Amino acid sequence: MPRILRLLFALALCSLPVLVHAQESRFTVGTASAKPGEKVTGYLDVPAGIDPGTQIPVVVVRGTKPGPTLALVSGAHGTEYASIIAIEKLIHDLDPAQVSGTVILVPLVNLASFEQKVPHVNPVDKKSMNRFYPGKADGTQTERASYLITKEVVDKCDYLIDFHGGDLDESLRPYAYWVVSGNAKQDGVAKEMALAFGLDHIIISADRPKDLSATRYLDNTAAMRGKPAVTVEAGFAGTVETDDVELLERGTLSVMRALKMLPGEARFVEHPVWIQSIADVSSPVTGIFYPLVKRGTFVGEGMELGYVTDYFGKTIFEAHAPAAGVVLHICAVPTMNKGDNIANIGVVAAKAP
Ligand SMILES: [Zn+2]
Repeated sequence: MPRILRLLFALALCSLPVLVHAQESRFTVGTASAKPGEKVTGYLDVPAGIDPGTQIPVVVVRGTKPGPTLALVSGAHGTEYASIIAIEKLIHDLDPAQVSGTVILVPLVNLASFEQKVPHVNPVDKKSMNRFYPGKADGTQTERASYLITKEVVDKCDYLIDFHGGDLDESLRPYAYWVVSGNAKQDGVAKEMALAFGLDHIIISADRPKDLSATRYLDNTAAMRGKPAVTVEAGFAGTVETDDVELLERGTLSVMRALKMLPGEARFVEHPVWIQSIADVSSPVTGIFYPLVKRGTFVGEGMELGYVTDYFGKTIFEAHAPAAGVVLHICAVPTMNKGDNIANIGVVAAKAP
């Protein structure tokens, strides 16, 4: 990254209202309460309501030196395993003696999904745990958990990264979302976070709800509360590949360097592919899915992505790309139900933002 840009980034960082907690003796998230120099584990206790309660694990890594607070959240979808394992590695590797500021790590939001190997939703209430923010104190388990995460994690951090990946049935190539809030200064910082993370495909995410009471997504909930946020995705179809886990771990450490929370230089991706929109393809029929392209392939408009047959082998649907772009993910399994996602095509932006 050119020196002048880095200087502008540093200036933008300085002018954001960052909560420096250095003077407080304790920093508490849920039941985890850490003094400077400590790494403490605890839980976000989601109380029972109209359905059972749950305990979401949380770790606070409190640096010995003052600095901002960064939240790292994964496992909203509990079978996006690579992202969960990346945060587990960071829990092990982050050394409070090296850190300036505080890191809040929530490795596994959707415990029931992980334990029961159920993709996409919380099996307790059948809701996605990344669609009900800012949550509700008197809602179902997903809504109560989202409410608690908003209060305990989003409100207490200065920056946030949400970790995802391809779920059990998704073959995904890695990418990041740059969350655009409309506040130019904040969005500049979030963009630098996305570049510092280093994934080479970045979605310009400008169309998420701006209504504070219905932000739906975690990244957007943080962004609309003034916290620069990015979402990152790596891993696919239940695998925990070293390459994917390392992309996520190294990217996080690079963002921490960019935010001056760790010593050393951040590594910024120089020429990412900017994605301006997503064209999604879903199946109008139930049957057996046969893919014809792989994750990461560039496809032209109209190109066949795959087809669905009935259980006797007769083709009943051909899926074509609605636009030219990159296959960000494609269905990884033969099971295909009416309405299921077949593929997401990332439409490449004409020029870098
Ligand atoms: Zn996810």
